[in-house]
Amino acid sequence: MPKIAGTCLCGSVKYSSDVEPVMTAVCHCKSCQRQTGTAFSIVVGMPEASLEVDGQENIGEFLGTGDSGGKVHRNFCRNCGSPLWSTCESISGVEFIKAGTLDDTSWLDPTAHVWCETMQPWVDISESVEKHSRNLS
Ligand SMILES: [Zn+2]
Ligand SMILES: [Zn+2]
Repeated sequence: MPKIAGTCLCGSVKYSSDVEPVMTAVCHCKSCQRQTGTAFSIVVGMPEASLEVDGQENIGEFLGTGDSGGKVHRNFCRNCGSPLWSTCESISGVEFIKAGTLDDTSWLDPTAHVWCETMQPWVDISESVEKHSRNLS
């Protein structure tokens, strides 16, 4: 069984990887709130090009400007609209999977919350987890 496996809502795009994730974080930026339609994104950072993708032809890309001003490539399923993963030009070498698309989410344990300056006021984060008002850096 691959370490990482997931799919969009309709199943047109599937991905998997045997590579260990480099990080798990929660992003409260306004762009993630808009793209996901909810309070935040849970993201699993994977080394670039470590995902095997089935259904590449069903992937659309929205190139937007992130809250930090850098370009963000947001990949999604053209059929069902599920956000799948993003790459940020300001953070090279990492692809950020939208963790809600993983088949198994039981192991997720975010170690950092970023863009807390736009966090919804009712979100309650454990004291033991790092909080950053903007990016990690
Ligand atoms: Zn889909
Ligand atoms: Zn974000």
